[in-house]
Amino acid sequence: MDSYSVTDLNKVKRAPHRAAYDHATVYEILDAGFVCQVGFVGHEQTPFIIPMSYGRRDNVLYLHGASSSRIVQMLTGGAKLCIQVTHIDGIVIARSMFDTSVNYRSVVFFSEAEVVNDEEKLTALYHISEHITPGRWQEVREPRSNELKATTVLKVIIDNASAKIRTGPPNDDARDVALPGWAGVVPLKMVADAPVNDPVLREGKEVPPSVRAVVLKYSQ
Ligand SMILES: Cc1cc2nc3c(=O)[nH]c(=O)nc-3n(C[C@H](O)[C@H](O)[C@H](O)COP(=O)(O)OP(=O)(O)OC[C@H]3O[C@@H](n4cnc5c(N)ncnc54)[C@H](O)[C@@H]3O)c2cc1C
Repeated sequence: MDSYSVTDLNKVKRAPHRAAYDHATVYEILDAGFVCQVGFVGHEQTPFIIPMSYGRRDNVLYLHGASSSRIVQMLTGGAKLCIQVTHIDGIVIARSMFDTSVNYRSVVFFSEAEVVNDEEKLTALYHISEHITPGRWQEVREPRSNELKATTVLKVIIDNASAKIRTGPPNDDARDVALPGWAGVVPLKMVADAPVNDPVLREGKEVPPSVRAVVLKYSQ
């Protein structure tokens, strides 16, 4: 099984039994979402954390943004990045606030961004689109040349990655288990509602297969 090297940077020290470093676990968590938080040190050494959507292909995360935006200019300037993705799976209700917790799957990794060249740009955008709404790329018109020009696509090698996963019931102190009162887990997940038509949608238009598939993916 392929795994990321464990170094001082990515070694999970707090609750290490929850850590994983193998590609399969990291990819599974990345593929279960499409929004990451991108952290970097920017203007006047201030740390920034900016949410962005992404697409993964193999060991690469593709990001995109307006070429004129601050984040794109920061990231193309060779800034060091820390990217994280988290899924909340539940609130863990313990018998004390001390042991109250969250069930989650998260990934953190450290890397740098590289601008994707014109040849790779369309493929990279396709992968972002496929990651979020598989099949949609085939249903829409191709990007126009001015749109491509206005968009910078960044390629981030997934490196120094760690996953951390908490599952299961509360981990109460043995002395608390006999206390009266409820304890357990409130499971949480992201659920799609029925798609809402654009108010200016042409009459008689059905929800297309790619959108139906997204609804199904996030259905209960
Ligand atoms: C939804 C959620 C809520 C949380 N709430 C709290 C909270 O309220 N208080 C709290 O103390 N902790 C919380 N955690 C755990 C938190 O993310 C850290 O793991 C923990 O605080 C230890 O941080 P540290 O920097 O001391 O970790 P260390 O173990 O020293 O971190 C070393 C390295 O391990 C990796 N790492 C650390 N945490 C994670 C992670 N979550 N996922 C992937 N890699 C990781 C990083 O590469 C990091 O550089 C929460 C986690 C999640 C996902």
